[in-house]
Amino acid sequence: MPLPAFVAPSARSGKVILACALSSVCAALIFSPQHAKHPADQDDAAGAQSASLNREAADTARSAQPASSASAPEATPQPVVRSATVKSSFAEAVERLGLDSRTAALLAHAFSGEIDFRRDLKPGNTISLVVDPPEAGNASSQNPLAVRIETGSTSHDLFLYRNLEGKPFYYTKDGASTTPAFSRYPLAYERVSSEFALRRLDPVTHRWQSHDGVDLAAPAGTPVHATARGTVAFIGRQTGYGKVIVLRNPPPYQTVFAHLSRFAKGLHRGAHVKQGQVIGYVGSTGWATGPHLHYEVHVDSVPKDPLTVALPGKNPLDAAERAQFAKEADRLAALL
Ligand SMILES: [Zn+2]
Repeated sequence: MPLPAFVAPSARSGKVILACALSSVCAALIFSPQHAKHPADQDDAAGAQSASLNREAADTARSAQPASSASAPEATPQPVVRSATVKSSFAEAVERLGLDSRTAALLAHAFSGEIDFRRDLKPGNTISLVVDPPEAGNASSQNPLAVRIETGSTSHDLFLYRNLEGKPFYYTKDGASTTPAFSRYPLAYERVSSEFALRRLDPVTHRWQSHDGVDLAAPAGTPVHATARGTVAFIGRQTGYGKVIVLRNPPPYQTVFAHLSRFAKGLHRGAHVKQGQVIGYVGSTGWATGPHLHYEVHVDSVPKDPLTVALPGKNPLDAAERAQFAKEADRLAALL
């Protein structure tokens, strides 16, 4: 059913710029042998060159010392490890580490499948980066080669991968993307009763207007599932939508589930939901001529066709790439 434009409850969420179209085609590893380091030298390197970074006494930058063996070419710039302690937020900490907002957004997106920054990241947690040294002259690339976030007893590592066009991605050392899983459909529906449309004739108001979602017809009471994990940004009634739930999913996504007959028990604003969790049941509340789910997917606050919108993918690397990637990731992880 056509609906009035939903007012996004959080205008400040979802400013991530990166699209998630991952492609393994023509991809190449960015790692070069110069980043290799003998694990036995790690302890020496750790203590040797501690220096305070910027004005933060708690933060450190240290050189990931080249292997002292004769095999290491002495002129090769070695990657540098930098660490910062979280004071208020991820963005604040990585800014202190010298990353620009674009890189910060890329990393936030890459970690969003593993860490809920608002809930899991606490003051005192540590963020460490392996970066190319300034003298390497890679001014175009701010992207850290490796990133570790330590949240309490758990540490999460991601490693940089560039495709042949140079576009950066971050994967776990197994070559898996940690961008969250996102299902296409929130329920077992019978048919699409009304498609996403920029403009269409509204059967109720008989006016031309856009249809910001898709109508999925199903018997009343059919369970509706969260298509990705998220936080309940709105739960209640809205004109047109009837009983509606808005989920703030990992950036840049937001999803809307309308015309519900009822909500899942215990669900409230601010509650965290998992992918696949039942959040409500199909109904015909609001402007609905029959039981169906009106489902919207917003990307950076812009409604997209839920049936065709690009959703995060998994395991973008092929087997050969993964093996090579894992080897290089091990070397970088040893620096952290
Ligand atoms: Zn609709």
